[in-house]
Amino acid sequence: MSDTRKLIIVSNRMPVTVEKKKGEIHFHQSAGGLATGLGSFYRSYNSIWLGWSGISSDRINRKERESITTKLANDFGSYPIFLSKKDVELYYRGFCNRTIWPIFHYFPQYAVYDKSLWESYKYVNKLFSNAVMKVAKPNDIIWIHDYHLMLLPMLLRKKLPNASIGFFLHIPFPSFELFRLIPWRKEILNGLFGADLIGFHTYDYVRYFLISAYRLLGYEHTYGQVIVGNRVIKVDAFPMGIDYAKFDKATLNPKVKREVKNIHKNVNDRKVILSVDRLDYSKGVLQKLDAFSLFLEKNPEYKGKVIFILLVVPSRTKVEHYRLLKRQIDESVGEINGKYGTLDWMPIWYLYRSLPFHRLAALYSVSDIALITSLRDGMNLVSKEFIATKRNRHGVLILSEMAGAVEELGEAIIVNPNNREEIAEALEKAMKMPIEEQISRNKIMQRRLQHYNVVKWANDFIDSLHKVKEQEQKLYAKVLTPEREDKLINAYVKSNNRLIILDYDGTLVPFAGSPEEAKPDSKLMKMLKAIANDKRNTLVIVSGRKKETLEKWFGKLNIGLGAEHGAWIKEKEWDMIAPLRNDWKIRIRPILESYMDRTPGSFIEEKEFSLVWHYRKVNSELALTRARELKDDLLHLTTNLGLNVLEGNKVIEVRNIGVNKGRAVLKWLSKKDWDFVFAAGDDLTDEDIFAVLPKEAYSIKVGLGISQARFNVESIKDLRLLLKRFEKAV
Ligand code: UDP
Repeated sequence: MSDTRKLIIVSNRMPVTVEKKKGEIHFHQSAGGLATGLGSFYRSYNSIWLGWSGISSDRINRKERESITTKLANDFGSYPIFLSKKDVELYYRGFCNRTIWPIFHYFPQYAVYDKSLWESYKYVNKLFSNAVMKVAKPNDIIWIHDYHLMLLPMLLRKKLPNASIGFFLHIPFPSFELFRLIPWRKEILNGLFGADLIGFHTYDYVRYFLISAYRLLGYEHTYGQVIVGNRVIKVDAFPMGIDYAKFDKATLNPKVKREVKNIHKNVNDRKVILSVDRLDYSKGVLQKLDAFSLFLEKNPEYKGKVIFILLVVPSRTKVEHYRLLKRQIDESVGEINGKYGTLDWMPIWYLYRSLPFHRLAALYSVSDIALITSLRDGMNLVSKEFIATKRNRHGVLILSEMAGAVEELGEAIIVNPNNREEIAEALEKAMKMPIEEQISRNKIMQRRLQHYNVVKWANDFIDSLHKVKEQEQKLYAKVLTPEREDKLINAYVKSNNRLIILDYDGTLVPFAGSPEEAKPDSKLMKMLKAIANDKRNTLVIVSGRKKETLEKWFGKLNIGLGAEHGAWIKEKEWDMIAPLRNDWKIRIRPILESYMDRTPGSFIEEKEFSLVWHYRKVNSELALTRARELKDDLLHLTTNLGLNVLEGNKVIEVRNIGVNKGRAVLKWLSKKDWDFVFAAGDDLTDEDIFAVLPKEAYSIKVGLGISQARFNVESIKDLRLLLKRFEKAV
């Protein structure tokens, strides 16, 4: 695929680290999984990677800055963002690692809420946005990574309305109860909603995010699709894969082979348990040490026969909780080795450093068991890498159910990291698991990891981003542009027999519960009156409301009315559209009542020929669940009663089959040979109107979204401005 657009990747750190040692500038490229995944895009697009270079801007002068920028652009396809020591302290070590990280990993007790850290986060996100603007063109594809840059999507959206912007979160998205703790939670969500596609590792994170969006911003979704103004935003899961081939082939690498030999020499025939984690309280290192100790206590026969290699990679050592954790790990390792160790056997081999690929791969290769007990982990790549190095070989993965990877690694022994007994038992089970069983479990996981590797992951994400954009364009294709509106007005002016059909709630006024709150304002009344008084116009309002309400509001105007979705119609007098029964209500009412009782805030409205369950005031996703349940229940019960169950805007209505707004509108349509037919509505009940209109009619859906209408306008305000032109065009 070749594309003239640029792909701009933005992450906190770029894959090149810049260092200054003894006055000299050095560049080191790190080949992380992300860089591998994006490799194919680097070839097919004109790509560039933006991020912090790792060097603080206080340490370099302007000339050095320029030469670093040129070197990064020419040799590494990268563009640096320069952060000062203070920025790093407040934004990175501060807001990112002391506010977002603990909250998103369910450690609220470690979170700090400090306005100056938040200000710095906003400031640095702006710095990134300015940097992107230096390289971006209006239609470019921009892929933003991770929790450091959650405000960036919206900052860029404002400047680049047509760009394709994707965002991927590499850490968990927490449940609403955690997320709501952040004082700036709405700003963060709004920032993310600048993207066209928002990706997470798992469906759980997707669900939590959508719930927060609903609770905090009132955004609803349909199958992960959210419509905000004139934009379509997709929220979906893309479990990040690894560079499978690299780990699969690792043991063929001579450097790895040498290392494997070395380790074997020292381990002899002892069983090896491996643990690899960055130093982080979310990884559950203390928990696994405790469980290992319990394992030795309960299974003394393993004393002297097992070695626990504990690799801890230094991280964030300037943040206080990390320093404390380091001390606790040191102490715990010392205690266990002191308690169980002998002159010729030390149970824990503790490494506190980062290992290069060949040494890490060798450890994966020689280990019999990998023990991953994260208390929370967005994904956990180590568990995937361990399995990938085990082609045709034994090895048991013990994996925490709190790690995102568990969704793809169900054949591992799954443990709750807070349950020390369970982990100790898992170790025992792993020790005793027959080799054939180990290999067969690993094979299943390997197939999955090989298929959804990091390249596929990145491809999938970018493909989805293109699809969302296409979908948005399709919706946008129907928007009533100024040119289309002029044509419509032109047709209006030229015609003499006009039928104008309007829905009421959600079309002419915003939705509100009671008739009192929803009653028409004086401006609307004036406009309707003016339109109705034009002799060439026949104006009809068709609504779900009761005939008494419509009569009270519009009875004095010279217009047609349809009430209860067309069960009643009025030209001169109110008339039933057809003989209708309502004896079914005795059976249906108790069902609605039971839902009302169980769903605080919901209520029942009784109309002459229908019963309605309203849930507009139910402020939680409970309402959506209940609405679905109720609809299912009703569909089941109403099949033989000649009833229809209809979902409207925050209502579920039960009414006689054959009553719908379309049927009412047909009455007027057949009256004359109209030379201009216009209809506007906003929800599902109005689709029945659109369905019966002649092809050349001007039908308009208020709000973006799928509809049979020919055109969309974005809001009630837009529709009223259009109707105002009818009034003026007399
Ligand atoms: N890793 C490494 N050297 C080490 C230990 C780990 O290169 O000494 C790599 C490992 O291969 C893995 C990553 O660090 O790709 C850790 O990713 P993971 O998702 O497991 O945890 P994170 O650190 O991102 O929370």
